Amino acid sequence: MSDVEIPEDHPRYASLLTRHRIEEGVEKGITSRQGLIAQGRGEAFDYLLGERTIDSADAAERAAAAQLLLADHPVLSVNGNVAALVPGEIVALAEAVDADLEVNLFNRTEERMRAIVDHLEEHGAENVKGLTGDGEIPGLEHARGTVDADGIGAADVVLVPLEDGDRAEALAEMGKTEIVVDLNPGSRSPQTAAIPIIDNIIRAVPNVTEHARDLADATDEELRAIVDDFDADEALADAERVMREGEFGGAAPENAEAPSPDAPLADE
Ligand code: ATP
Ligand code: MG
Repeated sequence: MSDVEIPEDHPRYASLLTRHRIEEGVEKGITSRQGLIAQGRGEAFDYLLGERTIDSADAAERAAAAQLLLADHPVLSVNGNVAALVPGEIVALAEAVDADLEVNLFNRTEERMRAIVDHLEEHGAENVKGLTGDGEIPGLEHARGTVDADGIGAADVVLVPLEDGDRAEALAEMGKTEIVVDLNPGSRSPQTAAIPIIDNIIRAVPNVTEHARDLADATDEELRAIVDDFDADEALADAERVMREGEFGGAAPENAEAPSPDAPLADE
């Protein structure tokens, strides 16, 4: 997919690939220029996390999978960054949990809506919602609050990756159970979420799908227990702790344990 060669053994391979995809998203009219800035902000937090899925985020991803499987009408919201970074992966998640996909943009333009729908369809999506725009999130000005009445408007559980704080709050006030993916544990969006996932979208979405597949045969009681065991405040606090206590020196391997305070330094 890339016309720029990035050597796979480059220490910042994942980060460079991500930047390239976002850049390509802007060129294709999928991602807004604002989206570039959002990505930069996210990267800084990911650097502090060690560019890995910490254990508390993995637990949040499992709870998110359980919550999506329990839902009557789950909807995955897709914006320009999500479409550029994880188009195939978000389609696979929608299939795994039987959710609708809805394009929902902070800076809504018909061109960009259409470009994202087309891009998702190229990645196998069907019946992507968002273009109708006949519903509304109360409490937001028109352009920001437009949704499909039979999509996000009717959803009981919504996954909103990289959502703006105001919209996340307005959705929660509508009584939706919100799952937010955001690398900044201090941002309002994850703080309003029932299930905040403090992880990079490129790792989070495939991992929620993996958990969903693993839980495909679980009973509602088992799924409910996973959701009930999850503590949002604890997850936010844990991510903040890892960021504050983390050490510089390069990204840790994926899913590595968070460094314990008395662990010996590497290379000693
Ligand atoms: P507020 O406090 O109102 O929520 P904000 O920090 O959300 O403000 P934005 O820049 O609009 O303001 O939000 C972008 C958010 O998306 C940031 O919190 C950033 O950490 C997050 N983000 C950006 N890229 C990614 C990514 N690849 N994966 C996960 N989160 C990301
Ligand atoms: Mg936010």
